[in-house]
Amino acid sequence: MGNNHSLEDVLEGILFLHSETGTEGGYWAFQDSRYIQRNGPRGYCKNCGFYMKKRSGTLEIQRVTALDEEVMQEYERTGEINEKPNCANNNHEEVIADAWDYQGLHILENGDHLTIYHPDNNEEVWSGVINLKQHDLFSEHASGWWIHADQKGIERAVWAEYFFKEYSAKLIPSNKHKY
Ligand SMILES: [Zn+2]
Repeated sequence: MGNNHSLEDVLEGILFLHSETGTEGGYWAFQDSRYIQRNGPRGYCKNCGFYMKKRSGTLEIQRVTALDEEVMQEYERTGEINEKPNCANNNHEEVIADAWDYQGLHILENGDHLTIYHPDNNEEVWSGVINLKQHDLFSEHASGWWIHADQKGIERAVWAEYFFKEYSAKLIPSNKHKY
């Protein structure tokens, strides 16, 4: 393999700001697309939040889409789908959404090599090595989201947009450690 990376080192995925209970702000992150389950039944009702079956023990539902706004906000705030009054006659409507497995989560760190593509034309918009300037907790934000760091050499607003809009990207991790 010499100095070159083998193809297996190059991961394809999606950028996002990883923020949940306990992270105390968002991390610039990458989700390996091999660990995204597309459009699967998620086991609970989108109208009332009722669990229609037991959640799998191995797959953590890291994020859900297609939930109604109220349930979504509750989920973001508490990390839980709180039950609302059940649908009449148990007439539930199961959420169909993507599920992101934590196994595919990479918090970007110094030395990672990242290439970012524009969603419209798939043209490369940025490519380089992650080099972060760390901030004190709860001191800096991007569009109202607390952030832990800035990528050096690029404006925060430009950088953040790639993550908020979930641009696709390729990642060569600086090491083999999984988050
Ligand atoms: Zn229901």
